[in-house]
Amino acid sequence: MPNWAENELTITGPDVETILNAVCSGPCENNDVRTLDFDKIIPYPKMYKELDQRSNEYQEKFLAIKKDDPDRQEKLNALAAEYGVEPGTPWLKDGFNSGGYDWCCANWSTKWSARGISLTTRPDHSKEVTRKTAKCSFCQTVHNVEHMTVWICQQCGSPLPNPQPLLAFMEFDTAWSPPIPVIEKLASMFPDHAFELKYFEGGMGFSGHARWSEGAEQFHHSYEYSGPRGG
Ligand SMILES: [Zn+2]
Repeated sequence: MPNWAENELTITGPDVETILNAVCSGPCENNDVRTLDFDKIIPYPKMYKELDQRSNEYQEKFLAIKKDDPDRQEKLNALAAEYGVEPGTPWLKDGFNSGGYDWCCANWSTKWSARGISLTTRPDHSKEVTRKTAKCSFCQTVHNVEHMTVWICQQCGSPLPNPQPLLAFMEFDTAWSPPIPVIEKLASMFPDHAFELKYFEGGMGFSGHARWSEGAEQFHHSYEYSGPRGG
């Protein structure tokens, strides 16, 4: 098992929703299933992806041939011929072990994408309300929300989308190191937003605090770190 770096990323700006959708790998309708997929920011090369997929497929087919299947040998031979390997080979070398690992370390600064992601969003009260209108998703009435204090449709009583810009706070773990190049790239993709990263790694004893805005790093401080969120 690797040492885990604990990361805290805060994203602020006029359209945080768009960023959350761009970094999400699954269906994004529900906040809880949103994730932070590094592949969406700095794509893992297709050649490794294809080898990983081929290796998974082979493994599934291999395991599906039952030990007591009377046609086992024939099926193993057919599978081996399909994949160009010796019959009975238990697994194929995947892309991750054929260069993908080194690629991730070099390009993401960590060998896997983020794990254990938790995302919370809330209205960012430090920002001006920039949207002047909101459309009721139920009855489609468009409201002027500049002077509204409660975001309720005056036609049908449904809640209106909050016109206040969102702030997103993500916590996630990465193997060994924080994903600095990934956040740097994300910041350059969305230069009208600010990205603040704090990270803590208890095994080797380091932590850090960095901020990017207008697509560029504003600061990056690193510190020694001796344990659960102490100095
Ligand atoms: Zn309505």
